[in-house]
Amino acid sequence: MINFQYARANDVADALHQIAADPTARFIAGGTNLIDLMKEDVERPSRLIDISRLPLNAIEETADGGLRIGALVPNSDLAYHPLIEQRYPMLASAILAGASQQLRNMASTGGNLLQRTRCYYFYDITTPCNKREPGSGCSAINGLNRIHAILGASEACIATHPSDMCVALAALDAKVHVTGPAGERTIAFSEFHRLPGNTPQLDTNLHRDEIVTAIELPAQGFASNYTYLKIRDRLSYAFALVSIAAALELEGATIKEARLALGGVAHKPWRDTATEAMLRGQAANLATFTDAADVPLRGAKGYEHNSFKIELARRGIVRALMQAAQGTPQSQSNKKIL
Ligand SMILES: Cc1cc2nc3c(=O)[nH]c(=O)nc-3n(C[C@H](O)[C@H](O)[C@H](O)COP(=O)(O)OP(=O)(O)OC[C@H]3O[C@@H](n4cnc5c(N)ncnc54)[C@H](O)[C@@H]3O)c2cc1C
Ligand code: SF4
Repeated sequence: MINFQYARANDVADALHQIAADPTARFIAGGTNLIDLMKEDVERPSRLIDISRLPLNAIEETADGGLRIGALVPNSDLAYHPLIEQRYPMLASAILAGASQQLRNMASTGGNLLQRTRCYYFYDITTPCNKREPGSGCSAINGLNRIHAILGASEACIATHPSDMCVALAALDAKVHVTGPAGERTIAFSEFHRLPGNTPQLDTNLHRDEIVTAIELPAQGFASNYTYLKIRDRLSYAFALVSIAAALELEGATIKEARLALGGVAHKPWRDTATEAMLRGQAANLATFTDAADVPLRGAKGYEHNSFKIELARRGIVRALMQAAQGTPQSQSNKKIL
């Protein structure tokens, strides 16, 4: 048993004060990832600063027609919120494809962004892992790498980001609001998570002494033509091997605007703006989508056990874009469990 202290933050200023005072302290929100990491001895915080009671749990409309989602809104509340269901159903669908009902009840919006990789070696402290212990090596590159990255990986780390929600947020062009000692700042979603490079221990560009306060969605929600397609080993309660958030705005049969982001393939949600640009102005049909699906995978590299992901992603992109174009998103995980 490793001793640690526990303290509740009274407000955001108090949370920032407490985290600044102790370099090995961690915020805890729902605890669904951090507590597991502590049990496995991967994280050893000296102090847990409980932020779960801070007043960051509102979902509010913004002046420009978007939504501001507090960092402590539980994943379930977010997915079932009427404004999310009506205006951003791709986000609801992505959230409900993740974890289990009980976990989604506990998990917070901010915590979901900051959950850590599911690489087996990261959780196994008897093995080398550059993310857990910089400079120790990467056990996955020549090991069991079935769930690992095919895009944007480095020689130091081939881990993937496990979130479903973040793939939809990337496609929707969300922003992350954070507060720290220097005040508030806003980070574009595409800049929030990092590629591993030679610093795989850093998952995001959030500073250690900053807190995520909210996520902002722009007005455009692609509520008519969207899909979140999650491909995994089991139909529920499993992380994505490959997932695709696809959204289209159509004018007749022509694509006016397109969004495409992939999950399960990289160290960050992989939004592909080149493919989006290629789709704009094209006819929304199988030929267009088949051509487009090659673009994000041009630089893909497979390892011994995960090369199948390249073809899986290619086919998944075509299917997701077809479903989006036809207005027939997957609905299997969209039912509220009462
Ligand atoms: C069995 C299992 C299956 C799962 N399956 C899926 C899945 O299929 N898809 C999916 O997307 N997710 C899945 N998850 C992950 C789950 O969604 C995350 O654990 C959850 O979203 C984390 O939120 P939390 O509030 O519990 O975070 P915590 O565990 O409390 O915190 C996680 C990290 O975020 C930091 N943090 C939390 N809030 C803030 C904040 N506001 N500002 C700064 N730092 C903060 C903490 O310090 C910590 O480092 C699964 C989890 C489990 C245990
Ligand atoms: S892939 Fe990354 S997280 Fe996994 S063992 Fe290698 S360095 Fe660690």
